[in-house]
Amino acid sequence: MARGRRPANRGGSVAFRRAGFVVGLMGGGAVAVGLYEPGADFAVPAMILAGLVLIFSLVEMRQGGGDSPSDFSFFGTAGPLLWTAGVWMVFREFGEVAPQLILLPVGFIGWLVISFPLQALLVPILAVIGMEVGLWTMDFQNLAGLAGNLAGYGAAGVGLSIFLSSKAYRQRMRKTLIRAKRDTASRQYARDLGLFAEMPGILNVLPDHDLIEDPEAGSQPAVEGITAAFDLQLELIRQTLSLSTVALLWPDLEGLEYRLRSIATTRKDIAPGPFEVGAGITGALMGAEELVSLAPATPSLGVPYYLKQNEVGGILAVRLPDDAEEWLGFDDKKIAPVLCVDRCSQEPWTEEEKATMTLAARKLALDVAMCRQFQAMAHERSAIQRVCIAMRELNGALGLEQVLRATIKAVRTLVGADFISISLLCGNGHCVALAEGEGSEQLMGREFSRDEGLVGQVLKINHPLPAKAQCHGPTQVFGHDHLLTGYNSLLILPLQKEKGEVTGALTVAVKQAAVFTKARQEILELIAAQVAVKIDLGQAHEEINRLATIDGLTGLINHRTFQHGFEVMLVRETRRNGSLSLLLCDIDHFKKINDSYGHPFGDKVLKEVARILRKAARSVDLAARYGGEEFVLVLEGSGEEGGLQMAERIRQEIEKMVLPHENGPVRVTLSLGLAVYPDHGTDKERLIRRADQALYRAKKQGRNRVVLWEGE
Ligand code: GH3
Ligand code: MG
Ligand code: MG
Repeated sequence: MARGRRPANRGGSVAFRRAGFVVGLMGGGAVAVGLYEPGADFAVPAMILAGLVLIFSLVEMRQGGGDSPSDFSFFGTAGPLLWTAGVWMVFREFGEVAPQLILLPVGFIGWLVISFPLQALLVPILAVIGMEVGLWTMDFQNLAGLAGNLAGYGAAGVGLSIFLSSKAYRQRMRKTLIRAKRDTASRQYARDLGLFAEMPGILNVLPDHDLIEDPEAGSQPAVEGITAAFDLQLELIRQTLSLSTVALLWPDLEGLEYRLRSIATTRKDIAPGPFEVGAGITGALMGAEELVSLAPATPSLGVPYYLKQNEVGGILAVRLPDDAEEWLGFDDKKIAPVLCVDRCSQEPWTEEEKATMTLAARKLALDVAMCRQFQAMAHERSAIQRVCIAMRELNGALGLEQVLRATIKAVRTLVGADFISISLLCGNGHCVALAEGEGSEQLMGREFSRDEGLVGQVLKINHPLPAKAQCHGPTQVFGHDHLLTGYNSLLILPLQKEKGEVTGALTVAVKQAAVFTKARQEILELIAAQVAVKIDLGQAHEEINRLATIDGLTGLINHRTFQHGFEVMLVRETRRNGSLSLLLCDIDHFKKINDSYGHPFGDKVLKEVARILRKAARSVDLAARYGGEEFVLVLEGSGEEGGLQMAERIRQEIEKMVLPHENGPVRVTLSLGLAVYPDHGTDKERLIRRADQALYRAKKQGRNRVVLWEGE
């Protein structure tokens, strides 16, 4: 059975223990005589006793720890006894209304059995049996109930014990423990070797939010590599110089103890350490000496890593060279890693041997330095990778909106910013094109004068502000009537196009102080430069898109876009069972206008007609140039009547329109054909064909009129 996982006895004074034990016994007795059976009288003393049991139980729990099973004492089981009484009080009092409470004593017994050593279980188990038997003798349960309960508790305890001692469970626990131990040991060693030392330059820009990986996580391969290299070198030295043991002692970061980091030995009685700094021969290396050799060895200056100091003839210890000057300065003592060797022979150490050991110490120190550099390079690579990912995303962005969003994301990759905004030049001022963070909703799209706020200044002087990227208290970042409050780090960078022309500004604010280190600023400036170019491209992209959808002469959407828009509107109306009017319009005798007044004047007429159509269309409607002097209007939610009304209104407005020309005022008229969804058709092609047929009839019937489609 798996036992001894938790000590039986708990801390606390003996008197308190005894009192607790007595209260536990009284509680158990009270349960046994039926004081906690539903409907029992004697309520107040029972409640007081329950309260006492509760208080003593809690104190026992809080005191935790306790004695080990070896100094087990009878009164030390006060805790388990109290908890047993408490659990039974609850179970007996409420068990009738909530039978599922049976799980409470069953689970409790299971927990006791797997958590406490066998001798500590005696008292609580006796208490359980006593209470159950008491309840039987007092007629609160029959013999079958008693037997059933005891069998159930027994089964819970035995079952859990069997489970815990099962091979599968034990193997799993063992694996977990070994892994945890190995990770901890490896991390500790890496820390001692200085593999987590602060890295310079670009590494400071590592983000300090969730994106940062655990800097210690990647150290394991480095530690494994260095350990293997050390082991090999030590064995090489041991064999070459015929030594008993070659050991590398490494101080912890506090300089308090040495750990045995690597060892090559023929002896069996190796003490695992850690050893006190200054113990044995290591004490002789804390002054100016870099190498100490003893032959024959004196017991007072022995090697710390043997359990017995027998068969130690000569000792030689060398301090690892301290090129980085990091192992000095613990109370003016030199606490550096030590390479320590010994042999049976009492022959004095030769100069050659001493030189070999000095060289070996230098080699080991170099190995660590090199490993640190590799580690630094790995860190650097990860930071650069992150910047590259941010840049790639920015480069993939097309439209302006996408560029702005990618910019904010890129900035976030580098700094855990609380507020980010991008301002763009517009008119004489600047407006907030995109903002994220506290109060950003009110800022979005707002326009500010260029004479206002820090952003205005940045745009004027084309230089980052504020100085030192710090801010104290509320700051006028955008304008007089807007203060950015609660930030301690603030950086506003100009967004410059390739030729140095400013297009906007990037504002990054962080609550934490001193976030914008020089390296961070540099990287943000790099991003800002990219952003400016991308914004330029984004704007161009949007202009191209606009040109592809808009008719250049009239400013209405073009034929292609109309086709798509009409389709979308049809789908929507089909879904909500609505209606649509499709109006096809054609200017009458337009050729004559061109012929009489010239093509440019014809263009002017087209623009004026387009203006009237645009005015007539609501935001949900669609007004497009269908081609040449033909226009099309789709009216959402309007049926035959609405369509006819609107068509007539447009016709009249065009008719009234007078265009001045040097040869006198010019008037035009418009013919309109109307088809209605769904009455005249449900698909796009059919509706357009029918509106066209109606328009043809309008022309045929004398022009300047509206005709509703009425069959083929
Ligand atoms: P109807 O009343 O039968 O429609 O006669 P119409 O003269 O308007 O019809 P037609 O289709 O014969 O002539 C259309 C003219 O529109 C021919 C073309 O030169 C002119 N046109 C087409 N696009 C433009 C343009 O962009 N600008 C100008 N100024 N004229 C255009
Ligand atoms: Mg025409
Ligand atoms: Mg025409």
